[in-house]
Formats: sequence, structure tokens, C-alpha cells
Amino acid sequence: MTEIRTFDQYIDGAFSPAAQAFDSIDPSTEEVWARMPQASADDVDRAVRAAHRAMYEGPWSRMTATERGRLLYRLGDLVTAHAAEIAELETRDTGKIIRETRAQIGYVGSYYRYFGGLADKLQGAVLPIDKPDLDVTLRHEPIGVVAAIVPWNSQLFLSAVKLGPALAAGCAVVLKASEEGPAPLLAFARLVEEAGFPPGVVNVITGFGEECGRTLTTHPLVSRIAFTGGPHTARHIVRNSAENLAFTTLELGGKSPVVVFADADLDSAANAVVAGIFAASGQSCTAGSRLLVERSVAERFLGILSEKAKGIRIGDPQAMETEMGPVATARQVAHIAATIRASREAGAELVTGGGRPEGLAHGFYVEPTILLSQSADLPCFREEFFGPVLSATTFDTEDEAVAKANDTAFGLASGVFTRSLSRGHRMVARIHAGIVWVNTYRAVSPMAPFGGYGLSGLGREAGADSIRDYTRTKSVWINT
Ligand code: NAD
Repeated sequence: MTEIRTFDQYIDGAFSPAAQAFDSIDPSTEEVWARMPQASADDVDRAVRAAHRAMYEGPWSRMTATERGRLLYRLGDLVTAHAAEIAELETRDTGKIIRETRAQIGYVGSYYRYFGGLADKLQGAVLPIDKPDLDVTLRHEPIGVVAAIVPWNSQLFLSAVKLGPALAAGCAVVLKASEEGPAPLLAFARLVEEAGFPPGVVNVITGFGEECGRTLTTHPLVSRIAFTGGPHTARHIVRNSAENLAFTTLELGGKSPVVVFADADLDSAANAVVAGIFAASGQSCTAGSRLLVERSVAERFLGILSEKAKGIRIGDPQAMETEMGPVATARQVAHIAATIRASREAGAELVTGGGRPEGLAHGFYVEPTILLSQSADLPCFREEFFGPVLSATTFDTEDEAVAKANDTAFGLASGVFTRSLSRGHRMVARIHAGIVWVNTYRAVSPMAPFGGYGLSGLGREAGADSIRDYTRTKSVWINT
């Protein structure tokens, strides 16, 4: 029997357990491996009040932007230095393979360094006002206490695009980790402390949506909500924010199309499609989950894809050679199986996968799966699986490809594969999505805004402008 680990929450600069705790399950073994603090409404209130004090009374409120930037820079370096150990925890808690968690967390440090560098570049303005004897200047002040809420996948990354600009702008934050796999963020809190942020500037809690999430998003001292998660939860968040009228941004799900034209480099496109859907076992908001392939090469391309899908090494997520791990929860396994079943009953053909991989007795494993259909009116084309399932269809013309790509309520990411530069440009303009990748898939950077159209969300994260979303403008009128 392995020892069960315990984790603390981080409120007002102190680590402590919560009155209640919940079990965290290792998705590769289905065994409880850790006990996590379950933040109560009182804990949330304490965290928000600590953040409010830190922002308006503590040393944080008197720090220069350059000093804030230095702290962010230090935090970025600490994240990079501790990437391997945090990655090990994320892999344990979520089942994401160690190769992915190490690479992703290693890169997250650069987000903190980027926003650290921006902290003292935010400038006010002097207005050429149309009235005599009046000087009008604009000050961009921190917006207030930020409630940052993230899902369990890519937690360090999804936190960095909220905390980076929020702290650069001078806000204080209550970060709520997901109840599924919070270990990496609770460990990240130790780095916040080590970096030297004053108590209360960053608080890290975890707990369930109903008590913890609702208390946080309705709290009267919260002025800004930065949410990443599913569209269903987003509607709760928006309703909750009717209480405090907090400015809210939403990064939600996707059903991203990948369009492969006959003139594309098919082998390179196939590698991108496979990585686009099967990385993180398909549990990524930008997963390229709908494949649109030109009919003349469809059979050949699907043949290449199925061979690659069958060759994926599935197994222990902590092993460096593993290419795909389990999905995060038993609920996910059931949801994926039900959506595959419903899609097949509605006419989708199973190209490969569809079940549980052989030889793995325990763990939430799902085979890399490809479904094919000419009709888009199937659950597999409409609903986000959040699992390793690619739904493929064909097209004959560029107009048809555009129509099919845009036939979704979502609009987060998209991919286009073609050797034609002009077609690539036309597709970029015509696809309704916040991100278009041409002849590549999934690249991200702290400099590039990230966010969706339609049900994929509201607002953008990352990029220099995102710092503005954590400020409010004060107009100052001086009678000279
Ligand atoms: P989820 O919506 O179930 O949970 C997200 C977070 O919201 C969790 O921390 C949860 O505890 C909290 N929450 C739940 N109910 C709440 C409530 N009533 N009030 C406040 N908080 C509440 O999402 P999930 O299943 O953990 O994650 C998967 C979803 O996240 C997918 O739809 C995925 O596409 C999306 N996602 C989007 C992005 C993006 O950047 N666009 C990135 C990653 C994941």
C-alpha cells in the first residue's frame, strides 16, 4: 500500500489544511494517491479578504511596477527550475504523459517572465482636451481582486495567462484549482511564496464548483473573473457575476476543424492531425477534433492516420516512452464511450479504435479512435468529447470546406494544410475561429493572444493587450 500524500491550501501567505478534504485518484491506476483540501465558503471568504487587504493596504499596494515585474520574473525562473517535479505531480494527478507535462511546464516560466517585463511598460495618457484650463490625464489602475478559475488540464499554463497579466497590473488573485487534479497548482503555491510575493497577493485554493466556485464568483470584493472551463460551467459563472458585476472573461471548449487539402504535404499533415487530436489524450480545448479532408486524397490520408493511431504507445503516463496516457476520470471514459456509441448508431463508421486498449487492466484508458461520416449532424461532430476521438468527413471544394469548418457553435482553433499560399490566406480570412494555424498545429506563445469565437468564449488571454483587461481607467481632471 503506497502512502497517501496530503496537500495544503495557500491563503494569506500561509499553508494549511481545510476542515474537509477529498480524495484524488491516479487515473493510470484508479487508486487514491492524495488527499486535497476542500475549500469551504469561509476559506474562500478569507482568501478574498486577504487578497483585498494585500491590494489596498499591504506592501504590494506600494510596490513600483518594476518591483512587481522582478517578482514575476523570479516566479518564472522558479517555475522553469521546478518544472520536472511539478510535471511529475500533474502527471500523477491527471494522467497526462510526463513528456507533455514537462515540456509544457518548462515553457510556462516564459509567460511569467514575459508579463514581468511588461509590468512597467503600461503607460497612461494626456488627452488633448477640448476645454481651456483643464488638464486631463488617464491612469490605468489595477482592476481589483481577481478570481482565477481553471480546469484540470494544462493548469500551470492556464493559470499563467491569468496571473501573469493580473500581477503585472498590480492586482491580487485568488486562484481556484479544479477539484480534479489540483496537486500541481498547490505545489506551485510554494514557488509563489519562495519568489517573495507578499502574503495575500496570490492565494491558491481548491474545491468543488458549487460551494467554492460559487462563493468565489459571487463575492462582493471580487472585481474580475478569469475563467477557463466548459460552456456549461461558464453559464453558471456569468449568472454568478450578476451578483458582483465582476468583469468576466471566458475561455471555453472547442470542436476545432483541421482542413487538409489534396495539395498538402500529407505525411506532415498527418503528424500534425495525430498530435492535434491525440496529445493529452484529446483533453485539450484546442484539440483538432474535426478532420475535413479533400475527397480525392481521403482514403489515402485516413490510411496514413489509422496506421499512426494504431502505432501510438499507450500506457504508464510517468514513462518517458509513453505517447498517450489515460483520460482524467472514469466519468470521462463513460462520456466518450456514450458519444462514440450514439454517433455510430446515427451512422458514423468506425475507422479505428473505439474501445479500451488491450493489455491495460487498470486505468481510464481509451483507444485512439477515428470516426468517419458524410453527415455532420452526429454527436461526434457537434459535442466536445474531451477524449482521443477524431471525427472525419470529406469535401470537394474550398467553399464546401469553409462551410463545413464553420458549421459549429464553437470557434476556438483551426488548422489548414495546403501548399497553396493564396488558398492558405483565403482560408485564414474565412474561418470563424480565434486561432488559425496554417501547416502547423497547436503552437502557442506568451506574445500571441489566445481565445475563441462563439461558444468558445469571450475575451483573449496572453499577448501584450491582455494586461489591459486587469486594469480600469481613471480620468483625472485638473483645473489649471
Ligand atoms: P469545468 O467547466 O467542469 O470546470 C472548470 C472549473 O470551474 C473547475 O475549477 C470547477 O471546479 C469550476 N466550477 C465548476 N462549477 C462552478 C461554479 N458553479 N462556479 C464557479 N466555478 C465552478 O471544466 P473541466 O471539465 O474541468 O475542463 C474541461 C473544459 O475546459 C473543456 O470544455 C475544455 O475545452 C475547457 N478548456 C478550455 C480552455 C481554453 O483556453 N479555451 C483550456 C482548457 C480547457
